[in-house]
Amino acid sequence: MTTTQELRQAVHEHMPISISVLKQLVSIPSVAMEGYPRKQVVEAANFVEAQLHTAGFQQVRQLAIPNGSPAIYGEIPAPPGAPTILLYAHYDVQPPGSLHEWNSLPFEPTVRDGRLYGRGAADDKSGIVAHLATIQAFHGHPPVGIKIVIEGDEEFKSSLPSYIPEHPDLFRADVVIICDHGSIVVGEPTLTTTLRGSASLTVEVRTLKDQQHNGVFGGPVPDALITLCRIIATLHDEHGNVQVPGLDPSDWQGAQIPEDAFRRAASLLPDVDLIGDRALSAQVWAGYAINVIGLDAPAIAGAANSLIDMARARINLRVPPDQNAERALELLTQHLQSVTPWHANIAISHSPANNGFVAKTDGPAHAAARQALQEAYQRETQIIGDGASIPLTNVLKEQFPEAEILIWGAEDLAARIHGPNESVDLEELERIILAQCLFFEKLAQQ
Ligand SMILES: [Zn+2]
Repeated sequence: MTTTQELRQAVHEHMPISISVLKQLVSIPSVAMEGYPRKQVVEAANFVEAQLHTAGFQQVRQLAIPNGSPAIYGEIPAPPGAPTILLYAHYDVQPPGSLHEWNSLPFEPTVRDGRLYGRGAADDKSGIVAHLATIQAFHGHPPVGIKIVIEGDEEFKSSLPSYIPEHPDLFRADVVIICDHGSIVVGEPTLTTTLRGSASLTVEVRTLKDQQHNGVFGGPVPDALITLCRIIATLHDEHGNVQVPGLDPSDWQGAQIPEDAFRRAASLLPDVDLIGDRALSAQVWAGYAINVIGLDAPAIAGAANSLIDMARARINLRVPPDQNAERALELLTQHLQSVTPWHANIAISHSPANNGFVAKTDGPAHAAARQALQEAYQRETQIIGDGASIPLTNVLKEQFPEAEILIWGAEDLAARIHGPNESVDLEELERIILAQCLFFEKLAQQ
């Protein structure tokens, strides 16, 4: 058994190496989306594979994921009687976006005020480094069995969830740690126990067979875009609450989100109101959200004086963790049909919906995780949710119903994942590594 003090020291002494590995990883622009060079994705995959070897993993290899980037896999056999933990992170990153919004170049990792800046520094190359450092704190011999999978296209389409049911033995474990998340505020240990579901539909409105002169016909003839706007305007009440019949929010019992940190992280303009009557945490972790994420209508440049015959909107629906996303999409569809004015023609098409996730919180791993976080951060562990979804969690839950799934990481709310100037707080990274080490010890002792 390794003592807390020994682990604390081992993790701390290893930090310069962890930071160096993180910098090398961030330097590789591993964007796995179409239109970006494959070479760099391959480079990142090879780099991660070599790092797993160095950390002491066995059976290290690249899994050929159909229609996806390779996932890197490794194992460390469990000592007799010890449980097995599956560690997850991903090496692909979001595109950097417009470079002029970055204070330092996205793929030139730079440390300022204790934070390492760069695309993927937090999401989710910090997760990879956390896993490596955790194993290295035990010199490659942790007190539990380990399986590790580092995915290569989480940000694009995530092909891993369809691969797992075909190869269940590779991923079977007592506990899964998804290190791709983090605290609301740096230094506050948090465990994420719920994720919202997500569903989208496209609504197409037609009022005319083709575009007509709006001087000649405008007035009595409704154009499709005005009609679509009237439909969209029914989705919220004047306070910004979702008002679609049947879409009733769930309750939230965990931690609260501080408003100023939330406003800052959301980059909300100073005078703009937050909408909705419920508390922030209840809204983003247990409520519905409806947003228009795309619109097809003539562009302003070249707009003719005509009545628009057809307009389309893509609407995304976020669904409370414990509610059925397909059913919610059906209720939204019925609502859109029922509020369509003037007998306009509408056609609605759905994309596949994914349900939210509710973690098991009555098992031994949850209790050990709370304790490990508490000891590593020396503060009481908070329970939070996430408004976004991780499709992998549902596949794992379905495939291995007994396994406990833990979601945490070094991606605090100020990490600006997916945005410009993404960063990770390096002390937070050290704390989450220590928490993982302490968790391994606690689980092994049970
Ligand atoms: Zn991520």
